[in-house]
Amino acid sequence: MTYKPNSDRYTLMNYNRCGNSGLLLPAISLGLWHNFGDADNPENFRKIILRAFDLGITHFDLANNYGPPPGSAEINFGKVLNSDLKPFRDELIISTKAGYGMWPGPYGDHGSRKYLLASLDQSLKRMGLEYVDIFYSHRPDPETPVEETMMALNTAIHQGKALYAGISNYDAEQTSRAVKILKELGTPCLIHQPKYNMFERWVEEGLLDTLGKNGIGCIPFSPLAQGLLTNRYLGGIPPGSRISKPHGFLRKDKLTPETIRKISALNEIALGRGQTLARMALLWILKDPRITSVLIGASSVSQLEENFKVLKDESLDEDELVKINRILD
Ligand code: NDP
Repeated sequence: MTYKPNSDRYTLMNYNRCGNSGLLLPAISLGLWHNFGDADNPENFRKIILRAFDLGITHFDLANNYGPPPGSAEINFGKVLNSDLKPFRDELIISTKAGYGMWPGPYGDHGSRKYLLASLDQSLKRMGLEYVDIFYSHRPDPETPVEETMMALNTAIHQGKALYAGISNYDAEQTSRAVKILKELGTPCLIHQPKYNMFERWVEEGLLDTLGKNGIGCIPFSPLAQGLLTNRYLGGIPPGSRISKPHGFLRKDKLTPETIRKISALNEIALGRGQTLARMALLWILKDPRITSVLIGASSVSQLEENFKVLKDESLDEDELVKINRILD
């Protein structure tokens, strides 16, 4: 059936300016790391992507290696683009990345110019796109001069294969260097994609200040700690959950008694506020004005719809933040 998007979609979402740039990103973006590979149900992931677009989620985040197998999330996303979203390309922000192992030999990993530019060409082919909106260096490479990696991003932009440059997983110091080089090249760094959630707060020790000072957007990934910061595991490990999957990156040993105690205590606070823990965890990240968007994952339309409700939730007050901090300490 021909897809017709919800005509109210842009009244439903909040759009935040990405740093000092001209680009607005939705407060919630959808990532395709898990649940969009060849092992996943195509009808289910098509529904998730289209429901996201109907809710005003304009930004879809990919990487060369998402799947499994690596590359399949881009291929599958490309199929949905082709079948349903093609007429709306100018309403979409599509990102991809290169930085982790993708093909054998010395040129399929890390941060060389050779790898980044070849990988971007492959990503475009897989998705059937002429350009992506954001191209990221997925991680810093200690063996490659950062100048070379940033020059590759700059080239991608000059080739018209990417509109904006981003970096991911760079610490505050690495970020400062990368940002300076990109600035000198005339390609400002648009955005940083770090891991950030209630359980992993390293960005608060310098990175957020660096981004704020330099007018760079921030889009935290795994804001729900891959599902730990939800009610998903409160009654054990449900079948089909990320922990239960053999290829998942969330291992059973993450569910220590101490973590379960924290999740339960946070869940109590969330229930007291009349919301789910997932929403409270997203709200907690979005409270900082330096955050442009939270980059969520979802394995079902209902999870996506639940998380979307955070936009209507009341902010956390000082007392609640103190209580949350006490649990996290
Ligand atoms: P989240 O922390 O949002 O975890 C998503 C998972 O949480 C879902 O798959 C689902 O797990 C569970 N979940 C989501 N909503 C709910 C809900 N309302 N109730 C219960 N459970 C829920 O993010 P991800 O770890 O998936 O990462 C998001 C994106 O970030 C990725 O897709 C990718 O684009 C990006 N990323 C970037 C990285 C980088 O290095 N730059 C690294 C990792 C991710 P289940 O599947 O069990 O249902």
